[in-house]
Amino acid sequence: MKKIVLLRLGELFLKGENRYVFENVLLTNIRRKLSGLNFKIERTQGRVLVTSFDNEDEIVERLSKVFGLTSLSVADEVEASVEALEKYFEKYTDVVGAFKVDVNRADKRFPVTSMEMAARLGGVILDNNKDAFVELYRPQHIYKVDIRQNGKAYVFDKVIKGQGGLPLGTSGRALLLLSGGIDSPVAGYIMAKRGLKLEALHFHSYPYTSPEAKQKVLTLAKKLTPYVDEIKVHCISFTKVQETIHANCSPEFMITIMRRIMMRIAERLCLTNNLGAIVTGESLGQVASQTMQSMTVTENVVESLPVFRPCIGMDKEDIVKIAKEIDTFETSILPYEDCCTVFLPKNPVIKPKLAKAEQEERNLDIEALIAEAMAGEEVVDIKF
Ligand code: ATP
Ligand code: MG
Repeated sequence: MKKIVLLRLGELFLKGENRYVFENVLLTNIRRKLSGLNFKIERTQGRVLVTSFDNEDEIVERLSKVFGLTSLSVADEVEASVEALEKYFEKYTDVVGAFKVDVNRADKRFPVTSMEMAARLGGVILDNNKDAFVELYRPQHIYKVDIRQNGKAYVFDKVIKGQGGLPLGTSGRALLLLSGGIDSPVAGYIMAKRGLKLEALHFHSYPYTSPEAKQKVLTLAKKLTPYVDEIKVHCISFTKVQETIHANCSPEFMITIMRRIMMRIAERLCLTNNLGAIVTGESLGQVASQTMQSMTVTENVVESLPVFRPCIGMDKEDIVKIAKEIDTFETSILPYEDCCTVFLPKNPVIKPKLAKAEQEERNLDIEALIAEAMAGEEVVDIKF
């Protein structure tokens, strides 16, 4: 009996002519995700099959993190004929309780209707299991049969939820501002799920922050790789920038100006690395720098790109839930200082005015600060 993993594609169907482009990207992503394992890929109308594997658990685990797949099932491949399927169903000899057979006939040339086939296969189970009975609405066991156009039928009893979303890379590439916190890895995950391939930018304040703080961010990036594949992390020292702002600007504008400089650097990195958007983990009202007015003043320095903030309307609780699902939470709560907390003023402005921020910035040589920070960039390639 040939075992296969049946993959169901998601929103790809909505994409009309682009569907083939999307499918090809998805298949490339699947192949890459499974590299190092034995497997083959077959395509049949509207389904992708993974075959010839020996490590089923690992294959399923990896595929369950591929964006663009709505669900998957481990199935047995049976010749698509009434006789072969009836013969196959004879193998069920320990069914107890309520069951149901569900037949989907994608191949309308198959001589028997879905309903009739389900009844026949149910009959085989009833014949061989004296304690089994048919129950269509609340069955304890469901046997699903998917009859495809390739002359094969696939029989399975479990549907494993996939990630959904769009294949990684089909929406382009973006830069994730990655801190050591809970929110930004989640923001990266959410946008990657919409098809964005990510690079990351992290600002550290060594020696005010420890090397462990930076390592923590690289660990977070690594934790994202089962979803986002390899990720390039640009690490930039923010120490000089912070010291200079601290020495020259009003304390209550410290964070506003820091964030404006972060955004300027992010935009420049995007332009030189062919990245089309900036992604942050901001959530409205969470802290002083995440009010509408603060975001207006921060975003004002970004001239040519959208800033995506997928967590903007989420409660912390919802963000934490996702962080736990993608296994970044435990790392995010490790107690290392983030660069933003080092020079934290007592009373940051909650509703900064753009004109005032610009006036404060006149005390700085912004261009020189940016150039110096970017010159010290260190790039770390994190592989899956
Ligand atoms: P997070 O949990 O993601 O750290 P936060 O709630 O702590 O977010 P802030 O510290 O105000 O909020 O940061 C808001 C966003 O700015 C972060 O989600 C992240 O995208 C970006 N950011 C903050 N600090 C850094 C940093 N050191 N390096 C890169 N990006 C950062
Ligand atoms: Mg933070």
